[in-house]
Amino acid sequence: MVLRMEEVLNIDGLRLTSREDLVAAVKKAERAISQLRARQLVLLRELSRRSWPSEGTDTARLARDLDVSHRTADALLETARRTPELSPQMSELASGDATFDRAHALAELFMAGGREIELAEAKDKDIAGIRRLAARCRRIRRRDERQAHQERHVRSWLSLDETAGFVNAQLGAVEWHTVTTALDRRADEIPRSTGSREQRRADALVAIAHDWLSGHLNDASSGGALVSVTVDATTAGATDAEAGVRVTAGPRIGPDTLDAIVCEGAVEVLIDRDSGMPLAVGPTGRVVPPKVRRTVLTRDQGCTIGHCNSRYRLEVHHIVPRSRGGTHDLENLTTLCWYHHHIEVHRAGNAIDLTSPPDQRRIVPAPDW
Ligand SMILES: [Zn+2]
Ligand SMILES: [Zn+2]
Repeated sequence: MVLRMEEVLNIDGLRLTSREDLVAAVKKAERAISQLRARQLVLLRELSRRSWPSEGTDTARLARDLDVSHRTADALLETARRTPELSPQMSELASGDATFDRAHALAELFMAGGREIELAEAKDKDIAGIRRLAARCRRIRRRDERQAHQERHVRSWLSLDETAGFVNAQLGAVEWHTVTTALDRRADEIPRSTGSREQRRADALVAIAHDWLSGHLNDASSGGALVSVTVDATTAGATDAEAGVRVTAGPRIGPDTLDAIVCEGAVEVLIDRDSGMPLAVGPTGRVVPPKVRRTVLTRDQGCTIGHCNSRYRLEVHHIVPRSRGGTHDLENLTTLCWYHHHIEVHRAGNAIDLTSPPDQRRIVPAPDW
């Protein structure tokens, strides 16, 4: 036999009841709920004491068994585990004088390290007040700190097509502070026009790595780390370098990156895509002949992009790229800072405006050379 909801709850009988009586009835129901919760907590505690380790009465399982939210299941388990320590509070719950939410907030306060003084202070507070109190006394235990230290790591991996790399890290709080402060300060030195704050932070990380690798800070003569690449002249030539070139023992790179390396870099082996002839050979072969490079750097006296006064890693850029027939002639070369050269020109698919004055260069989208 199925009862109608009205019959179960006797809703018809409530129609004539006053507001005060209704509020009283709602409160009475809450007391009954609290009493039931207290009983449920005792049962839960017993259950978690008995269960096999493999079965557990973990949050997910309880949420499934009771068909309640993860949050409710978590609150139930947390509170159930604290029933012995909070026995006065639990008797209030059992008698219906305190709600389950209060009992749970007190359990949280206890777990945060709150003891007699805090629990007494919590008496006069509402639920939100108890939560704030818990946040204030949450202790940083030695074992929490040691665990954080144990779990420190930096993971890095390449995307499947190897055109992008990812870095993910977990550090102790102080170490994290050191790293983020360094990244932020370094990012502040990068011209704002080169990207968003997060992009500049990424560039900052690369710059820090570059500096460490070359062992020179702001040294215009270092020009960048040695990159060893091997190129299959046939494949690379046939596909306009889109087949990808491999950095020795490193990732594959595409035509934009190859252009950047050919433009200003120290390469080990590089094969010209058209002729199949080596462009540069040798352990430290630099693409631009050193004498020409020095001449250009001296001539330009800094980054030639208008209004740029950065002197960070000044490099020599081929206005018409090598892959498009650009030469090492002095007119085809200009000095750029690392940000403008790598970040704003090569990586962003831009080029130097051929019509811009030699000491006030403009950056424009790369033409189809
Ligand atoms: Zn360049
Ligand atoms: Zn610049």
